[in-house]
Amino acid sequence: MAKIHELSENLTNQIAAGEVIERPASVVKELVENAIDAQATRIRVEVKKSGLLEVAVQDNGTGIAPDQIDLAFMRHATSKIANEHDLFNIATLGFRGEALASIAAVAHVEILTSTDGQLGTRAGFAGGAKTFQEDAGSAKGTKITVRDLFYNTPARLKYLKSPRTELMKIVDIVNRIALGHPEISLTLTSEGKVLLRTSGNGNLQQDVANIYGRKVAEQMVKIESEDPDFTVYGLVSKPELSRSSRNFISILLNGRYIKNYALASALLDGYGTKLSGKKYPIAVVAIEADPLLVDVNVHPTKEEVRLSKEKELSRLLTSAVTDALLAGEEDPLFRLTP
Ligand code: ADP
Ligand code: MG
Repeated sequence: MAKIHELSENLTNQIAAGEVIERPASVVKELVENAIDAQATRIRVEVKKSGLLEVAVQDNGTGIAPDQIDLAFMRHATSKIANEHDLFNIATLGFRGEALASIAAVAHVEILTSTDGQLGTRAGFAGGAKTFQEDAGSAKGTKITVRDLFYNTPARLKYLKSPRTELMKIVDIVNRIALGHPEISLTLTSEGKVLLRTSGNGNLQQDVANIYGRKVAEQMVKIESEDPDFTVYGLVSKPELSRSSRNFISILLNGRYIKNYALASALLDGYGTKLSGKKYPIAVVAIEADPLLVDVNVHPTKEEVRLSKEKELSRLLTSAVTDALLAGEEDPLFRLTP
């Protein structure tokens, strides 16, 4: 057998990228989540060729100081947690310090960033290594451009679905993040064509109208409920409006889009017998929980979480939906405010 040796940093980053960066939509998700963590109020996502040629995400957040660029692209380097206590009390979307290092290991990356809106930094990464860094004028915030994704990992390229499907996955994740953050203005363009633009004025109903159409938005009822551990807020469709898949259910926990079968089922339970057979509602549910009750450190993509008191939250969600539907019946003329 060959001797044991330590893998190079670039190789370990490529291995990590295999978990975190599955497809162009993963790049979009990680970059947009970084922008949100940087307190951006305006985020623009531009993709070309379904994100394989280019993904560019620009935000007006805090920016990164020149001497922090190397660290930002180093694996397991993060500004978001510092100690074990923080790991169980995560208030940000990121914390693993993996995304930028992973993306730079499987694509060409350029960053333009400024912390003060005057002097900034431009830097490039290829093959996991920095190729240049220079001073550059820039608006406050960060723009990261990712080109030629998976150029050095042909197996990954092969595993991707059709360009159309990959673009749909990008649209899907941006839509869900937008629904979870009506306070942020999000724009998505593909080949220069605007696919989504939200105002960022905090009106969830307006965003639902934007994404699913005005007719849908007008047939949603508001849910709002809380107990000492959780608050639940959102919009769910009246039973008359349904879809034949669960794909129109978005659950956001502390601003993070998550996949959680138990909570989706709890939502369905709220409809009782009002939804027949294989019918599912359209729903956006934002849950706020004490971070101590949420373990996000389950999977590198952070879409799955472990929840303490999941049963209690499920009950709260079910009754919030039941109550809202009852109230909605009494108020059939629910209209979208212009
Ligand atoms: P994580 O988000 O888990 O910390 P990342 O690799 O995604 O790891 O990012 C590394 C670090 O780079 C972040 O902790 C943050 O300090 C900085 N960073 C990344 N993106 C941005 C951004 N858009 N604006 C400001 N800082 C950023
Ligand atoms: Mg991140």
